[in-house]
Amino acid sequence: MHTHSTVSDGTESPADVVRAAARAGLSALALTDHDSTAGWAEAADAAGREGLTLIPGMEISCRTAEGISVHLLSYLHDPEHPGLLEEIDRSRAARETRAEVMVRRLAEDFPIDWELVQEHVAPGATIGRPHIADALVSAGVVPSRSAAFAGILTARSRYFVAHYAPDPARAVELVRAAGGVPVFAHPVATARGRVVGERTYRDMIDAGLLGVEVDHRDNPEEGRAFLRTLAREHSLLVTGSSDYHGTGKPNRLGENTTAPAVLERMLELGTGSRPVLP
Ligand code: AMP
Ligand code: ZN
Ligand code: FE
Ligand code: FE
Repeated sequence: MHTHSTVSDGTESPADVVRAAARAGLSALALTDHDSTAGWAEAADAAGREGLTLIPGMEISCRTAEGISVHLLSYLHDPEHPGLLEEIDRSRAARETRAEVMVRRLAEDFPIDWELVQEHVAPGATIGRPHIADALVSAGVVPSRSAAFAGILTARSRYFVAHYAPDPARAVELVRAAGGVPVFAHPVATARGRVVGERTYRDMIDAGLLGVEVDHRDNPEEGRAFLRTLAREHSLLVTGSSDYHGTGKPNRLGENTTAPAVLERMLELGTGSRPVLP
């Protein structure tokens, strides 16, 4: 229910992600590139050929007023909804500027430049820190993306720059307006930075949040128990995912899965776009 392709910061094309899912024995897959739906058509085509269910999705980068990063998964929304599209376009433009500033800062200390970073970004892809990490790897500065994220590229690094991102409750509202199913991605992933408090959960739930991603490798066990209780109290769907990025992360397809009944419910609730069904 959560994968990335070269349309954002995964290392495989949308069709290759679908084929990898079929090989991994999965019956259904959601493609959720960061702030982009550009991979949907290619993935749908491949899913049709492989006889796999494909849920079109997207992962929206958000930030709370306190500056805490929130990722919101959107499933089955209308990719042309003007309000949502406007926010996504604004984020994507800000990501470009932000990456340029980060690369300029990094270039003062390491042998990379904008051109080298561009070699690692597919045409039209949503740029992010993983692409800068790839340039650092190819320049021999770090051995892997993970190593880059453990040091030079963390949010605490002097090279880090934030980019515009919508408020999470506003994003939930827009996803619902676009007929989509909003699910809070890896909500308790403390290793990624600060996580949100009760107030943000309340705001997102009031705005129409429909699910929480519980089984994700970055959610510690105590946090998962908290999320399961929250889901019970507020009738939220519970999902699980790999957050697959190809060779860009150790995460393997199918390492966490979502119950078929939850998928059925999501298919009922999502009215903005059509899934591919076998
Ligand atoms: P950005 O959106 O540019 O702030 O970059 C965040 C992205 O980097 C997320 O999509 C993560 O999937 C990815 N990321 C975070 N930590 C790691 C890591 N340790 N190794 C590889 N990718 C990571
Ligand atoms: Zn990513
Ligand atoms: Fe995420
Ligand atoms: Fe992700």
